[in-house]
Amino acid sequence: MNRAEMYRRLHAHAGPWDMIVVGGGATGAGVAIDAASRGYDVLLLEQSDFGKGTSSRSTKLVHGGVRYLEQGNVSLVMEALKERGLLLQNAPHLVHNLGFVVPNYDWWEAPFYGIGLKLYNLLAGKYGFGASRILSREETLERLPTLNTEGLRGGVIYFDGQFDDSRLLVNLAATAAEQGAVLLNYARVTGVTKDGDGFVNGVTVRDAEGGQEFAAAAKVVVNATGPFTDDLRRMADPAVQPIVAPSQGIHLVLDGSFLPGDSAIMVPHTSDGRVMFAIPWHGHTLVGTTDTPVEEAALEPAAQEREIEFVLGTASLYLARKPERADVTSVFAGIRPLVRAGDSGNTAALSRDHTIRIENSGLVTICGGKWTTYRHMAEDCVNHAAILARLEERPCMTACLNIHGFHASAARYGRLEMYGSDAPELLRMMETDAALAEPLDGALPYVAAEVVWAAREEMARTVEDVLARRTRALFLNARAAIRMAPRVAALMARELGRDAAWESAQVGAFERTAKGFLLAP
Ligand SMILES: Cc1cc2nc3c(=O)[nH]c(=O)nc-3n(C[C@H](O)[C@H](O)[C@H](O)COP(=O)(O)OP(=O)(O)OC[C@H]3O[C@@H](n4cnc5c(N)ncnc54)[C@H](O)[C@@H]3O)c2cc1C
Repeated sequence: MNRAEMYRRLHAHAGPWDMIVVGGGATGAGVAIDAASRGYDVLLLEQSDFGKGTSSRSTKLVHGGVRYLEQGNVSLVMEALKERGLLLQNAPHLVHNLGFVVPNYDWWEAPFYGIGLKLYNLLAGKYGFGASRILSREETLERLPTLNTEGLRGGVIYFDGQFDDSRLLVNLAATAAEQGAVLLNYARVTGVTKDGDGFVNGVTVRDAEGGQEFAAAAKVVVNATGPFTDDLRRMADPAVQPIVAPSQGIHLVLDGSFLPGDSAIMVPHTSDGRVMFAIPWHGHTLVGTTDTPVEEAALEPAAQEREIEFVLGTASLYLARKPERADVTSVFAGIRPLVRAGDSGNTAALSRDHTIRIENSGLVTICGGKWTTYRHMAEDCVNHAAILARLEERPCMTACLNIHGFHASAARYGRLEMYGSDAPELLRMMETDAALAEPLDGALPYVAAEVVWAAREEMARTVEDVLARRTRALFLNARAAIRMAPRVAALMARELGRDAAWESAQVGAFERTAKGFLLAP
């Protein structure tokens, strides 16, 4: 993926696009893949970087959602479990099977969760990840040696998927490009254009890099802007009522020693009646999440003090070594674009199903859902959008479409597994130029070649793109990421032909963003 080439193709395009997709998160990228692989002519516009919104800030689970089963939403769980299986099949370099242990401290928990999790596995049918079973106290501690042992009776283990969200997103963008879509990051949609009958027939765009404004026409415009859904809806019709109830979730990242081994902890009932996870992720421990209704969606949301205290407090109940603020290497927040249901103030109870709306203006809005179900959401959306745009009806192709990087045995590349079929090229770069094999910081395993690769092949435009979403440095260890920034800026400047002023501006901008990921002692 090359931004200059995308820009050239955009401006060389004659006539209206079949479809313009606004938003480069999981939903928008999924729609772009689906439409492009059906042979439609697609343009995707993202105001910032691909995945800058919610799609890089998830719990990193490809799951059916045990909690939704408890809420009785069996069809949502079944659909998500099928999508989980398809994602493992189509992107095995990024999705992994992980054991989740529900620790039991009360006598009734083992039979209760044992039955529920059996049903969870049953609903997956042929897409199952492995049978759940009840564990003895010893077996539980074998899997989770750092668990709080006071009153521990045993546990129940079940299996679910885990992934790297922004790496998958970058690979989805590449897949859409391979299918013929044009994708532009740092291109903000500033307005919609309409025909004489008042129907949306395109968008106006501002290129954040060059500052130019331009218009692009389309037979149908898809609004996949996640938490910002209502902003675009209002651009098309200022009178529309909001449909999004933004809900914030935060995660704390701790050192890997808090959860050694390869099993996760699943807490089915926190004191606020939610589910919480502690998960091993890239050599660290990820703990979260909260569900806090917020007034406004921000592109860089900030964790609230009471959320931080809540996650630390809950983790302390289950971990033998109680995590302190000083143990937190990164904290990040994301906004769930949940669809409103009346006046309920409790966003945890809102449906995680997706919603497709055809507005009176002809704008197609897709909102809600989950990362796990992005493919199914996209299929549903394109089915509707194609009819509206009077496009020739063509079947969805994505159920068996390999995601960019697909590799049946990428584990052989060790830490570079997540690059899948791109890993050999990264290894070749490091062999050819030993400087590219140098680590960027002692605290994290990332090397210079990954920076060059991100700028050259993955449309990374800023230091933050590399440190937050092409690598996960900022999400794993914000202090280490800050230390890495000058070297990353220098490598990128050489690759992208930028000057020293750009480098220092980039380092400054990154430090300002990264401060939000640091936890004050
Ligand atoms: C804390 C948390 C944990 C979660 N954990 C999981 C999980 O473990 N598993 C799971 O399956 N799901 C999970 N989810 C849900 C999942 O992350 C979201 O459903 C999904 O990422 C939403 O993707 P999206 O593309 O709709 O929104 P986003 O990723 O926010 O994408 C919308 C994009 O639109 C862009 N945009 C907005 N306005 C404009 C404009 N005017 N012009 C151009 N671009 C624009 C934004 O910059 C943004 O990049 C979690 C969500 C949260 C908040």
